[in-house]
Amino acid sequence: MAFVPWIFQGLSPEAQKFLEKRVYAPCTEDEKIRYENLADELGLNARKAPKPMHPDGCMQGSELVLRAILSQGSDDPDCGMDQDLPEKFDPKNQRKMMGGVKGPNSQGFRHMYFGGIDIKRPIKTFQIPTGAVGEAPTRAQIMAEKAKSLIDKGDLTWGIRTLAWSLHYIEDLAQPYHSTQVPDFGMTALGKLFQWPPSKGFEEMVSETSRMISNYHYGFEAYTSIRMQEGLTNPYISCLDQPRNQSRLGPNATSAVATPEMWAHAVAASSRDLAADIGAASLDFFGKDLMKPGVDIANKKGSLNYRELVTRPDLTDKRNRLHQASCVALANATHAAMLTVEWALKSILEKEAAAAKAAAEAAEKKAAAEAEAAAKGGTKPGDKKKIQAPAASVTAPDHGADAATDSATAPPEPATPNDHD
Ligand SMILES: [Zn+2]
Repeated sequence: MAFVPWIFQGLSPEAQKFLEKRVYAPCTEDEKIRYENLADELGLNARKAPKPMHPDGCMQGSELVLRAILSQGSDDPDCGMDQDLPEKFDPKNQRKMMGGVKGPNSQGFRHMYFGGIDIKRPIKTFQIPTGAVGEAPTRAQIMAEKAKSLIDKGDLTWGIRTLAWSLHYIEDLAQPYHSTQVPDFGMTALGKLFQWPPSKGFEEMVSETSRMISNYHYGFEAYTSIRMQEGLTNPYISCLDQPRNQSRLGPNATSAVATPEMWAHAVAASSRDLAADIGAASLDFFGKDLMKPGVDIANKKGSLNYRELVTRPDLTDKRNRLHQASCVALANATHAAMLTVEWALKSILEKEAAAAKAAAEAAEKKAAAEAEAAAKGGTKPGDKKKIQAPAASVTAPDHGADAATDSATAPPEPATPNDHD
């Protein structure tokens, strides 16, 4: 996922070093069985296993860098694990209101959160139903807790992978189309209401409005993802580089007792504040063609010319307006994701630091004892033993791998951007 390089660079040196550890890649069959067990425990679609972590599985001792697992794994939740779920995994029956119970959009209820109508700003926060719906913040917490418990037990491979799943939900919430049902009333089909019978009008209004908003949603997401992968011309670089300064997560961002779920809610709240700006700017920038009858990007009917959108000189002002609002949203995602990674790694990093300190103290003690013995004349020349260096890191990578705990090899980033959402 495009966010991981920025998340990584904002972490503490200890967390960065930890994520540079290598583990053996799981064998394909083991990986499948492990996913099925996790699916059962975490309420996922067991038949929709995400793609293997390593293309060669465990052949010839293939290795993975944890940072690369974090990167690749953050796309997993859009690859089917939350789709076509049994009813028991949707106890509040939210799928019906958020994309349906079957097919790719049936994952929507877990990837979104609409906070409910705020009576102080009913137009900007309008939604049906009027109360809060969506499970994204809860899913972020469930995955982060699982991640923390696996990491603390030493299962780094699956711990980091489930941590990546948690980041996915947080990043989704930073996207105003995941936190607001109607980013701009210009994207609605209110005219359809005035038909006879009224029930037909309402149904058509809902389905046409969903189609139009979905077109802007896809357009915004694809455009932002393309621009985030640019080098120096990435228009959001200032926010991605300094997320702690640019985000608007409120007091939770610095609270010592906050949790990933609280950060996810803070992201969703800020995202909702940004929705009106991003909605209006999207309408202006992507144009009204996305509202034309029959245009349905999700179902491959119609498309946008992204190359033109990036370069057209006459769109400069509109483009800048969209970039400005998007920039804060991306800072929110990066900052909350960084906090979540630090939260999940806290115990293991403390444990590793304590073990390293104890080993250093033991080595120092031994050296002092040897020096004392030598001073007393107890050793003959050539008898002197080498002083042992303190162990650098004590946590063995899972599968018994003991390789390169402090390897600085850069992890491979995913070859292709994900386009499932
Ligand atoms: Zn998603």
